[in-house]
Amino acid sequence: MRLIAAFAALFASNAAATPIVVTDIAPIHGLVSEVMGDLGSPTLLLPTNADAHHYTMRPSDGQVLADADLVIWVGAGLTPWLEAPLQALAPDAKKLALLLSDGWAPRESHDEDDHDHGVIDPHAWLDPAIANAWLGAIAAALGAVDPENAEAYADNAEQAAVSNVELRLDIAAKMEAVAGRGVIWPHDAYGYFADAFGVMTKGAISDSDAAAPGPAHIAELREIAQSGNVVCVLLDPEVNPSWAGILTDGTDVKTAQIDPIGVNSPLGVGFYSALMSQMADQISGCLAQ
Ligand SMILES: [Zn+2]
Repeated sequence: MRLIAAFAALFASNAAATPIVVTDIAPIHGLVSEVMGDLGSPTLLLPTNADAHHYTMRPSDGQVLADADLVIWVGAGLTPWLEAPLQALAPDAKKLALLLSDGWAPRESHDEDDHDHGVIDPHAWLDPAIANAWLGAIAAALGAVDPENAEAYADNAEQAAVSNVELRLDIAAKMEAVAGRGVIWPHDAYGYFADAFGVMTKGAISDSDAAAPGPAHIAELREIAQSGNVVCVLLDPEVNPSWAGILTDGTDVKTAQIDPIGVNSPLGVGFYSALMSQMADQISGCLAQ
């Protein structure tokens, strides 16, 4: 009986020691869930149906930030609106901006006119190899806040990375089958996926911040879509769906919806691989003939 009480106390103290971790978007929440494993669950700040680039915080979001021991977010490149509240509302919380972490190669995004502004494309979770670098950074940040469990975090990250290697091979096989077929992306957010899996990019409707496109850009894309070199125009929740019809009108170019955030997938462990597999199915399905 005394032993049981001792165990109960041990569990209670462990539970109390688990840090309160806040994440920005569902894919990052998924990766952090894998690393925390049985030790706890992170809190997700953004609703899955929210637009990550443009979001208005609710008062309850402020409270979530104020309670955090550790905030893990992609970075200001994805959610510029989060930078100031993070400093003001969670001054003492540790912060990990994954875009600033080491061990992976960021890609630059281009604006409508293809002038290179040297802006880092923030959608880097869309390559599982980069997600693996991020798993390591997540484990290190958790271990720094909760040293007692540092080893468990590192082990969990290692395990998740092994499944991501498998995931990347699965996706590569799917995309291999449709290699060389041209795609117009919804916004300039899929370069990491395209680079990782050899998808032929012919353009993007919006910039990487998902701002509305200008008429000259749409006219140019329409020409590209009508040229016979594009098989599929993709849409996502961040762009107006009516662009697809305007681009493909009078052609047999296909359109499909993709989802880089995973609006309808169950959150937590397994989210990331479900998101990526679903995206690969959506893209390869549209490109298949
Ligand atoms: Zn985006």
